[in-house]
Amino acid sequence: MHLLDLQRATATRLTGACVGLLLGISCNAQAASVSILVCDGQPIEVSGDDPEAMDEICAASLAALRYFATLDMAPTHTIRIELTGKAVAHGQGPAYGLYDGSREHLQLMSLGAITVQRPPPTLFDRAIDHAMYAGLVTHELMHAVAQQHRRVETLGVVAQEYLAYAAQRATLPEPLRLEIVGSAGVSAWEKGDTISEIYLGLNVHRFAVKSYLHLRDHRDPAAFVQEVLSSRGWSFQAN
Ligand SMILES: [Zn+2]
Repeated sequence: MHLLDLQRATATRLTGACVGLLLGISCNAQAASVSILVCDGQPIEVSGDDPEAMDEICAASLAALRYFATLDMAPTHTIRIELTGKAVAHGQGPAYGLYDGSREHLQLMSLGAITVQRPPPTLFDRAIDHAMYAGLVTHELMHAVAQQHRRVETLGVVAQEYLAYAAQRATLPEPLRLEIVGSAGVSAWEKGDTISEIYLGLNVHRFAVKSYLHLRDHRDPAAFVQEVLSSRGWSFQAN
């Protein structure tokens, strides 16, 4: 429960969004139309009542899984995603995606449900379009995969977010990725740097870009990921 609480608190603070608590109400109202889609050739299942939005998640997850494979992080078992049509306040505010490690349960708001909000929501000062949404899917899937591959009972929040944000950036289309990386105005974590919860809390955008650049340029990204998957505290060292 402690991990879950931390994950939720972090996700809320980082994305300014959340889903979940009203889901029961939503599902009760729409139970008859909910179906499960098994993403073609992937260990991913999506439940929901919006076939187009479910297909979009499968397309995004395919790109995410290809990236995870480069880090030797293929899912060990099926990841189940619950598509939601409503943002739900969770204590500290709404989120677009939420991963509950204790239940290995992932909830994602559909892009349509996100963009219908007024004023239109943004993420890192950008409108949330299909490409940005795919990045969100990748982010939450990395939480799920990291949970499967963790080497400690409770993986630290900073470790989780390092991996999730690095993946989120890595799978963006190149022009958008270059634009977002450039806008942060930071360089990669350097050897010996402390990758900390404090920095994460101070500036998520910069934390995300520094993490992406660090993992991209690491001499052995898969090996470093194994170190990250052993982190249980509030910080760890870059190398
Ligand atoms: Zn996250």
